[in-house]
Amino acid sequence: MPQTPVESDVPRLTDHALSGFVVAIDGPSGSGKSSVSKQVARALDYAYLDTGAMYRALTWWCLDQEIDLDDPMAVSAAAADFPLVIGTDPDDPSVSVGGSDVATAIRETRISTTVSKVATVIPVREVLRQLQRDLISAAGNAQGGVVVEGRDITTVVAPDAPVRILLTASEEARLARRSKELHGDADAASVDATRSQVVDRDRADSTVSQFTVAADGVTTIDTSHLDFEGSVEAVLQVVAAARA
Ligand code: C5P
Repeated sequence: MPQTPVESDVPRLTDHALSGFVVAIDGPSGSGKSSVSKQVARALDYAYLDTGAMYRALTWWCLDQEIDLDDPMAVSAAAADFPLVIGTDPDDPSVSVGGSDVATAIRETRISTTVSKVATVIPVREVLRQLQRDLISAAGNAQGGVVVEGRDITTVVAPDAPVRILLTASEEARLARRSKELHGDADAASVDATRSQVVDRDRADSTVSQFTVAADGVTTIDTSHLDFEGSVEAVLQVVAAARA
């Protein structure tokens, strides 16, 4: 009699253990996770993987190829054939697509305001998550450890990581930080102009990933009242405790 596949027959992302010591960091936009994660990687002499840059690069590629971002099938097809090369050196987090250096272009407003359309397409997430796991293992093998940041690292990409952190901050603090980055100021007009890139994006991203509340076993670090050095130190303390 033909057997119906049971859940355990279905290959899962976690079927193959990741190599190296993985520090998984998730958080909403403006939580400071990119700059903190990079600095933590430098301090530990680990590799660094910015998974947000991968979603941004795919968005850049879709726009470059004139793919309609509102067509999930077309976007999924682009993900399946995505010529991405991403570096894992925290001092040189290079990103190129089809031979073009896009490290700067992927930070433009036109990408920040559209990336969620790409990131909420489920087959896209499956392709990029597998790529992320491959990159984590390669970097872990080469360097012994890797700091990986994103929205679903602690929950889906690396749920078995020995260190899993949710880096968060109040909406007010996140808006002020992002506003200073984008407009050099955190006055009312600048904060308003930043709102869609923080609040609206997080709302859209929350429909596919859980990064506002820590999952079981994930340590929350609230950086609302911490400066950069304090945030880095708080993460390093969690790492030190896990290694001990
Ligand atoms: O972290 P960053 O703001 O650069 O991420 C850009 C976008 O990439 C997020 O707004 C989200 O749409 C997507 N993303 C994701 N899952 C991740 C990392 C980023 O969906 N692990």
